[in-house]
Amino acid sequence: MLAFTAGRLLTPTDPVEHPLMLVDQGRVLEISCRSNRQAPAGIAFCDFGDGVMAPGYIDLHLHGSAGYDVMDDADEALPAIEQFLARHGVTSYFPTTVTAPIDVTLRALERLADTIETRERQIARQNLERQTPDGKNRAFPLGIHLEGPFISHARRGVHPAENLLPPTLPLFERFWQAARGRIRMMTIAPELEGAPEVIAEAARRGVCVSLGHSDADFEAAERGIAAGARHATHTFNAMRSLDHSTLDHRNPGILGAVLTDRRVSADIIADGVHLHPVIVKLFANAKGPEQTVLITDAISATGMPEGRYRLGSVEVNVHDDKCLADGKLAGSVLTMDRAVRNLARFAKWELPQAVAAASQNPARAAGIAKKGILAGGADADFVVLSPEGEVLRTFIGGVECSR
Ligand SMILES: [Zn+2]
Repeated sequence: MLAFTAGRLLTPTDPVEHPLMLVDQGRVLEISCRSNRQAPAGIAFCDFGDGVMAPGYIDLHLHGSAGYDVMDDADEALPAIEQFLARHGVTSYFPTTVTAPIDVTLRALERLADTIETRERQIARQNLERQTPDGKNRAFPLGIHLEGPFISHARRGVHPAENLLPPTLPLFERFWQAARGRIRMMTIAPELEGAPEVIAEAARRGVCVSLGHSDADFEAAERGIAAGARHATHTFNAMRSLDHSTLDHRNPGILGAVLTDRRVSADIIADGVHLHPVIVKLFANAKGPEQTVLITDAISATGMPEGRYRLGSVEVNVHDDKCLADGKLAGSVLTMDRAVRNLARFAKWELPQAVAAASQNPARAAGIAKKGILAGGADADFVVLSPEGEVLRTFIGGVECSR
């Protein structure tokens, strides 16, 4: 058993002052206040001083980091990405594909499914120590986010036009089989012919279906939600704008649905580049503290010097915190710890609400087994933050990740 204490703990929504968190076998046993409870004698005790313990961050939309893309063939790609993520407080994530020729996508899905299964076996085998074989704990890939090819030509961003495909059940089945059921999230434009059927089938299989890269009008977006979509991808970016008409806000489009429909959670890229801070605040006010989800949409350039990088098959120029291909934004170099601090600043939210948008809310939105909380029974995946929200240390299953 291990005992952890700090200045404060965020569950995330409830702050506990002078907390005592007991961890056993990789899980939180109990959380109490040091004034009512002594740590059991003779166990390892870790004191983080005035630090803040909070649930580990969960990134539902990540293409790469540290010079690697999740679609890369190289064996070292995912471990390098996952060590980088852990340094920025991310304890689990969805590796996210970008539209590519269908064979490339199928191969990437197979490889990602292999990796997820290998990691699951390692965890099962080393349940007692909760350590990866090289002794370096790192972020865990929980499932795959399929971004494209079922997206709009008009709102494709940098996804290659020649590889976009209309959604059909047989094609979805091919992706599903290649990923051996590991697709946990799918971004789709609901206005495409065939989309409602694919949305309904994916939702039936437990996929978090997310509206995005879409030129849908309000009605088509609502049809997607009626079919089972429950989330929206990088809201505002690669989406028909709120006021599409010249008729003074009488044609609200997909944003009208995403921002007002209570069935739908939604994510944003809070890097200060993709959205003006006031749009982040507007979004946070609309979706509220439970349905606001932070993503990074980070690409291989994240954590690397400026220069030329790849996002799938697309060449991207990175300069001044902007990733551009053909003059269009192509993902970000954002890290989740910075996204949390930005959300707090832009939306004028307290740290607990901003942390929830990177932990409990993505877990709830994606419907995953991890709950993104610190409470008895939860996985001991947590970060230690400075009072300003800088990540000091990261633990997965109670085991520290290398810095
Ligand atoms: Zn993306």
